[in-house]
Amino acid sequence: MKNSKRTLTTGFGMPVDNDLNSVTAGAKGPVLIQDAHLTDKLAHFDRERIPERVVHAKGTGAYGYFEVTHDVTKYTRARFLSEVGKKTEVFARFSTVGGEKGSADSERDPRGFALKFYTEEGNYDMVGNNTPVFFIRDPLKFPDFIHTQKRNPATNLKDADMFWDFLSLTPEAIHQVTILFSDRGTPRDYRHMNGYSSHAYMWYNEKGKHNWVQFHFKTEQGIQNFTGEEADRMRNLDPDCATRDLHEAIKKGDFPSWRLEIQIMTPEQAEKYRFDPFDITKIWPHADFPPMDVGRLVLNRNPENYFAEVEQAAFSPANFVPGIAPSPDKMLQGRLFSYHDTHRHRLGSNYHLLPVNAPKASAMDSYQRDGAMRLDNNGGAGPNYWPNSFGGPDPDPALAPPAIDVSGLAARHAYELGDVDFVQAGDLYRKVMTDSDREHLVGNIVGHLKNAQKRIQLRQVSLFYKADPEYGTRVAQGLGLDMKEVQRLAGMSQDERVQATQQ
Ligand code: NDP
Repeated sequence: MKNSKRTLTTGFGMPVDNDLNSVTAGAKGPVLIQDAHLTDKLAHFDRERIPERVVHAKGTGAYGYFEVTHDVTKYTRARFLSEVGKKTEVFARFSTVGGEKGSADSERDPRGFALKFYTEEGNYDMVGNNTPVFFIRDPLKFPDFIHTQKRNPATNLKDADMFWDFLSLTPEAIHQVTILFSDRGTPRDYRHMNGYSSHAYMWYNEKGKHNWVQFHFKTEQGIQNFTGEEADRMRNLDPDCATRDLHEAIKKGDFPSWRLEIQIMTPEQAEKYRFDPFDITKIWPHADFPPMDVGRLVLNRNPENYFAEVEQAAFSPANFVPGIAPSPDKMLQGRLFSYHDTHRHRLGSNYHLLPVNAPKASAMDSYQRDGAMRLDNNGGAGPNYWPNSFGGPDPDPALAPPAIDVSGLAARHAYELGDVDFVQAGDLYRKVMTDSDREHLVGNIVGHLKNAQKRIQLRQVSLFYKADPEYGTRVAQGLGLDMKEVQRLAGMSQDERVQATQQ
């Protein structure tokens, strides 16, 4: 059977004569091992799956561009931000966090918002979320936190006890929990949500002067969320609703866009600010650090092949360009290690050579050599060490980020949990949310927390009460808890509260 002009080949380019019948001894078999086309086909199929990301497994992506709309050269020397009107190619990947690769897009979960800018100074990755804060502020807690969002090790089921036990023992999570259980925890799709760097980063200019900066990508489609009931229904109706929405919008030319705003904090302000500016459980209030416009992100091209371009896309917050550098944020510091590490595990040590990950507007010129699946000429005949006197590339000291002063005792410094950790969750509840936002928030929490043990409910609700007494009271009433007990626990230190609610 031949009905096209092309001839099927093996992976090695040899023409294949028959792709329907294995080579057998006689019509009834057995199959002969000399059928190398059969064994190669089966063996490749057996290896089709690579490890799914341990977080952000379910996602989708698209290409587009970033255009500078405002002059920020006094803050950063990054060349892709050097001129109003300048455009840089971008690849974006959006995702849920806790679910497996086949999980539903409408689950209550933060959403990943990862961008790769293919700049002339190499690839810059901004690996953010749709929430401006996070649950924890020390990377040592991250594996534990994620375990509690996934499945019970015994039952392999999602487990409200694990989920709320950890969160109620981690009071600094209260701000992110409040956002997660508002309707922003179930965005309608990826186009109708914001993206935030969540961390502070350093921006430095040509003169080496630095500031701290937070990024906010504000959707130009407007925020749209599912209510809890709509999200539950959508899980059954179309588990891939956000994936489908992005693909179809771009396919029909309805290109989604976001406005990039930044907040700038000087090093002097950071020294004295009332919140730790590098604590990812806190935002920088707009009144103190007004957002400034920088540019616009537009997504206008769907990938041609999901596995090649989305599954193999590898982002890392450690991919910086001159003009942008890390801040001391402890969670960021942990991520600087973890993202490259996870991609080496998922894709292999040469994953940076895969087309979606390789620089496009600049050339790689390094002394890294060899390793599994080296796809390029491996540096050819050039020197593989530095320093050398054979014309290999040299580092450029002029590009060094400014030195910053750090000092202190090397120790496991604990954050002191204080009333300050409840302020912003309370502000969100009291000042930002509408009546209907508050009603949905309380309903969403009650619907989930009711599945946890009573003592865990009490511990968690006392934290809501500390953020705002009305907030705690409404959740307590929804769960039918004893208000006196909630208030008694809210008045305790965290250690006492934990003691009072042990099994
Ligand atoms: P502002 O009134 O200046 O800003 C409020 C912010 O809250 C806006 O960015 C708005 O985003 C966002 N927002 C509105 N509804 C919700 C919701 N249901 N869940 C999460 N965010 C929402 O106040 P402040 O800067 O003083 O911040 C007050 C509180 O607002 C903070 O404690 C924090 O919880 C929340 N917030 C603050 C942000 C910041 O960077 N300052 C960013 C996001 C949230 P939008 O304009 O896109 O609707």
